[in-house]
Amino acid sequence: MQKKAIVIGAGIGGIAAAIRLRKKGYDVCVFEGNAYPGGKLSQFSLGDYRFDAGPSLFTMPNLVDELFVLCGENPRDHFNYSKKEVACNYFWDDGQSFTAWGNQDQFAKEAARVFGESESGLRSYFKKAKFKYDHLSKIFLENSLHKIRTLLNLRTLKALFYSFRYDIFSSLHQTNTTLIRHPKLVQLFDRYATYNGSDPNQTPGLMTLIQHLESHFGTFIPEGGMYQITQSLVALAKRNQVAFVYNTEVEKILVAYNWVKGVVAQGKVFEAPLVVCNMDITLAYQKLLPELKIPRAQRLEAPSSAAVIFYWGIKKSYPQLDLHNILFSKDYKKEFDAIFKLQTIDDDPTIYINITSKNVAEDAPSGGENWFVMINTPHDSGQDWLELVKVLRKNCIRKINNLLKEDIEKYIEEEEIRTPKDISRLTRSNKGALYGTSSNNLFAAFLRHPNFSSRAKGLYFCGGSVHPGGGIPLCLWSAKIVSDLAKS
Ligand SMILES: Cc1cc2nc3c(=O)[nH]c(=O)nc-3n(C[C@H](O)[C@H](O)[C@H](O)COP(=O)(O)OP(=O)(O)OC[C@H]3O[C@@H](n4cnc5c(N)ncnc54)[C@H](O)[C@@H]3O)c2cc1C
Repeated sequence: MQKKAIVIGAGIGGIAAAIRLRKKGYDVCVFEGNAYPGGKLSQFSLGDYRFDAGPSLFTMPNLVDELFVLCGENPRDHFNYSKKEVACNYFWDDGQSFTAWGNQDQFAKEAARVFGESESGLRSYFKKAKFKYDHLSKIFLENSLHKIRTLLNLRTLKALFYSFRYDIFSSLHQTNTTLIRHPKLVQLFDRYATYNGSDPNQTPGLMTLIQHLESHFGTFIPEGGMYQITQSLVALAKRNQVAFVYNTEVEKILVAYNWVKGVVAQGKVFEAPLVVCNMDITLAYQKLLPELKIPRAQRLEAPSSAAVIFYWGIKKSYPQLDLHNILFSKDYKKEFDAIFKLQTIDDDPTIYINITSKNVAEDAPSGGENWFVMINTPHDSGQDWLELVKVLRKNCIRKINNLLKEDIEKYIEEEEIRTPKDISRLTRSNKGALYGTSSNNLFAAFLRHPNFSSRAKGLYFCGGSVHPGGGIPLCLWSAKIVSDLAKS
């Protein structure tokens, strides 16, 4: 008889876990509350414009390819992407701009030319980040941090030996200022804290390894846009007989005598000796496991930052913009204090504009562009989002107009706005957090929930709110860890 597994949620972590468990011989069924898969990694259209709803930056595509290879398929037959030569265009209000090349040498040369930064200084910054990644990724990213075998081995001992080189006792901002001279470049490198929803003034300097994922391995764009990641993996799962049941919210995880027994959905019991929960961990404890209290360590961790997103169909194109564009605020510290201390949005926020139609022509009508305009915000704690968005929209348009030297508002022909409350509702995320919990302290990696339950055998957790954390690559790693932990 085949072993049964149930996956709660068809986010990227849930889909990847389903594929991996299927390959381990499980009969897998994925329950998804929405009518479509992907969770945060989904898409929608406004008129003739297509938008990726959430993630826009694609790193480590090898982790997606790996799933096709695992199933004996050639990824290139189903999922394709290209590497971006320019990682991001940066702009400041004083007219300064900077092209961040994907290649580290080219980046360093450009930084020397534009900012007079020392090329060798930047090279040693990149080298230090690589050192951290090479020594820590196997421990902190690719394996369960909560198993003795991960901690008691030669690799961990070696990593511990070098712990003085990981900048764990200084903030990312402090680490950046000791290695980089120009304040605008410091701001650029501080920005990587936002990749996991944290504050550069609080998250440890260890996080320089986030930029390593981008600058060392490169940034990519899937053919057809980010949603192709979801679509191609769901198709792969289906070719391998994984079942998907949509519009079906799981209401309870059944546990008896410390063993998981299955789930309840739409009032019916579905039995399985293995359950993988891809739901946000805080909400999973509150709604699905009310008799098991969320462990104290996870209760203490604050949700990561959230975002307001303006999806604009723009009936004009702007050659000065590329796929990824950042319009920086003047005072980064003030902006992050507003988010993390005052729980509001600064009047001069950093604006991220992602335009997939630069690479995926079908995403916008000819002569137009699909703008995904995202501003980092606090998670939802009852703010008046309507009021905040009213002010924010004006501030964003003013800042973009200043860059493009014209009134862009008259070119917005389609618009949708999502606040942290909407993100929470549409993706069932805790308070609209984009990346689970923030990493605003030294112990965040240890405080994140393990990928397994120590109180219900057979119950596993994957996705952005558990170890190793948020972002597509980390969610894919979480699925691999779950599959490695599950019995064959
Ligand atoms: C605006 C935005 C921008 C981002 N930018 C990037 C980026 O550029 N690059 C990057 O790598 N990452 C980015 N991220 C983060 C990334 O999207 C997430 O870390 C990742 O997609 C989360 O995947 P997940 O596996 O945790 O599942 P989620 O995407 O959180 O999906 C969980 C799924 O489970 C379903 N579900 C929950 N509870 C139940 C239940 N009880 N029953 C049935 N179904 C349930 C939900 O409906 C949902 O579909 C961004 C996120 C957002 C929102």
